[in-house]
Amino acid sequence: MSGISQALTRIAPSATSAMTDRAAALRAEGRDIISLSVGEPDFATPPHVIAAAKAALDGGQTRYTAVGGTAAMKAAAALHFARDLGIAVPLAQVTVSAGGKQAIFHALMATLNPGDEVLIPAPWWVSYPEIVRFAGGTVVPLATGAAGGFRITTEQLAAAITPRTRWLLLNSPGNPTGATYSAQDLRALDDVLRAHPEILVMSDDIYAPLRYGGAEHATLAVECPDLAERVLTISGVSKSHAMTGFRIGVAAGPEWLIRAMEKLQSHSSGNPCSISQAAAVAAFTGPQDFLDGWRERFRARRDFVVGAINAIPGLSTPVPDGAFYCMVDAAPLMARLGTDEELVLHILEHGVAVVPASAFGGADGFRISFAADDAQLAEALRRIAAAVAA
Ligand code: GLU
Repeated sequence: MSGISQALTRIAPSATSAMTDRAAALRAEGRDIISLSVGEPDFATPPHVIAAAKAALDGGQTRYTAVGGTAAMKAAAALHFARDLGIAVPLAQVTVSAGGKQAIFHALMATLNPGDEVLIPAPWWVSYPEIVRFAGGTVVPLATGAAGGFRITTEQLAAAITPRTRWLLLNSPGNPTGATYSAQDLRALDDVLRAHPEILVMSDDIYAPLRYGGAEHATLAVECPDLAERVLTISGVSKSHAMTGFRIGVAAGPEWLIRAMEKLQSHSSGNPCSISQAAAVAAFTGPQDFLDGWRERFRARRDFVVGAINAIPGLSTPVPDGAFYCMVDAAPLMARLGTDEELVLHILEHGVAVVPASAFGGADGFRISFAADDAQLAEALRRIAAAVAA
């Protein structure tokens, strides 16, 4: 007998989490596996953040908080939105969840009806389409390619919109391609969106601090103020402050949507972890200067990985402008190595865990996270070269 709901049968498990678990299981068996599958910085969480978490524990901050976060947490999130993204919001338009993933989950669950269409630029982050399907929505992929910087065009957006379109999900800098939209790109998209006031737009800015091109970060809520009543901006501390395990994501948007997300959260997790909130307050309000050093190290790793991949016959990757992933094209090898899932298993046999492009709505390749230490990256790239040559 299977007691599985129809909603759950519509979705697949998270491919990034599955590959990371698989790598951990192989390691537990004694295999030497380098995991470049999950996107999480290898840097230690900053000491002032750890100290704040310990102080919260010692100070007895171990009870329920307000569902959408403590007053201090909301104030810290609002500070982050204003200082780092240029989005000035009152506290009533900010909420805090157990990771950006939960904020996205609640936003989509709270707004989608069966058959509503959600436009998602592909390649996409693995969880976007699965959450949409779970919520009863229909995924409408907007295919992008390396030649166009993995960005959608205004013509493509206009052509994809139907009376059922409910959301456009944008992620800049993007996972898994590093796709980055300029202020001009966003305003051009707004020229299309303006005529469709029923469409909500998600701007997932979780990778905003990790940009390498030198250009200012551009975000819809700032560039397109006419969209203010329908833009939800997602951010957090996981990637910028190496706090993936703390599970703190923040969202800013119109009050009606923030209240809807908190209503749902009041029945799912309730408040995000009280200790993690105290740590995230320290992350947002404390020193930010360490980020310059981290960004520089990520940039150096990116350059190394891009150079090494492009030196392997049959593999190629463009230079991502942000985030910490490379989308590797392996199309010339597919006839010999099978599907991208088979290719990834073959690379795993050679001791490196990566995620197949198909998990991101792409094809014929795989994603590498370069948020790993330099020696591991060098060894992983040596193994990938050996796997491809074998
Ligand atoms: N966002 C990261 C990734 O794509 C973390 C894992 C996940 O939640 O998918 O690897």
